[in-house]
Amino acid sequence: MGLEYKCKECGIPLGFDGLCWKCRAKHHREDVDSWTTKQIEIKKQQVIEKLKTCQKDKFYATKECELFYDLLTRGIDCQDIAKIACEQEIYYPAELFYKADSTVRDILIEKLLLTKTSSEGSLLLSCLAMIGDKKAQDVLYELKLNPKPWRKGLYVDSNIYAEQGGWTFSANNEYIKLNFDKCFSFEQKKIKDKEGTFLIRKRGEKCPHCGCELVDMLVIDGHDKRFSFLGVDGIITASCCPNCITVSDGISCKFTLDGNSEILDYEGNNENYYSDKDIEDMANNNLVISEQEKPLFYGAFNDDVNTIGGFAYWIQDWEYRECPECGKKMKYLAQIHWDSIIRDGAEGTLFVEICPDCKIITMFHQQT
Ligand SMILES: [Zn+2]
Ligand SMILES: [Zn+2]
Ligand SMILES: [Zn+2]
Repeated sequence: MGLEYKCKECGIPLGFDGLCWKCRAKHHREDVDSWTTKQIEIKKQQVIEKLKTCQKDKFYATKECELFYDLLTRGIDCQDIAKIACEQEIYYPAELFYKADSTVRDILIEKLLLTKTSSEGSLLLSCLAMIGDKKAQDVLYELKLNPKPWRKGLYVDSNIYAEQGGWTFSANNEYIKLNFDKCFSFEQKKIKDKEGTFLIRKRGEKCPHCGCELVDMLVIDGHDKRFSFLGVDGIITASCCPNCITVSDGISCKFTLDGNSEILDYEGNNENYYSDKDIEDMANNNLVISEQEKPLFYGAFNDDVNTIGGFAYWIQDWEYRECPECGKKMKYLAQIHWDSIIRDGAEGTLFVEICPDCKIITMFHQQT
């Protein structure tokens, strides 16, 4: 396919006449962000109508499901949608049940305990993960201890299902929170100096494996009151080799509150795919953290926006790493989509996780 066209807005080469996906995603997000209360009410009704009329297992493929995701990115309370989804026995996507009320929860629990199939069991586990209250936790815990016969048809245990909702439980059923209940996004702005919270700074040292410039991918100023929810009284610096990270199993670093970090040993790549100019361009990005807090699902349904906190847009399955120091599950901290910082078709996303106790960051790459 030749690239004989140009995006009408940003000018990048395209194989068709129109807007590139990034410009379209940007317009869509602006549109959703500007919906009025009345428009939101109408869209909610549209979703509800579809739930009532569509085939049980086909809702996820409808445009109303996209609408539902848009509503979540606006942080809209969707309890009445959950009620209808429950009545209609539509269990996918599980987000339909995010923070659903106790009546809905109890119906789902009853179904889960009666189901005979692993496919329905799997769906219901995910729905309860999204509800994520104490009773949902206790049921998942009980099923981990005393699995039903259909457990054999699942790949993972119920504590891993729970992670989808941003939490899990220990062997003694202690609740463990795996994501943060606040979210901020990065926005394009002209900036002069990098300060406070930002993406990509050259470290002035080279990777011992591939020779690529090492970078601080993400720096967060924990003193900024916007980030007090992280509970880190100082600076978080997430550092790695941007070239090796995409082929490694992940790279960890240990940061100190004064703004330094030490990259821990990692598996490297022999070949460096980045020129000095590429790294320079990355460091010259114009991404600035949003002034205002965003809804928790702001970055959860599309890869057009980098976020700190909230829910991630997992390319593959959700993944919470173990802290290399204490062995506990790390918390999901941020996502950086490569094509937001490197021009020209970079694929995949870098996920950043943190153990606040040990001051360890682990970053890893996912792509389709
Ligand atoms: Zn464009
Ligand atoms: Zn490297
Ligand atoms: Zn730790």
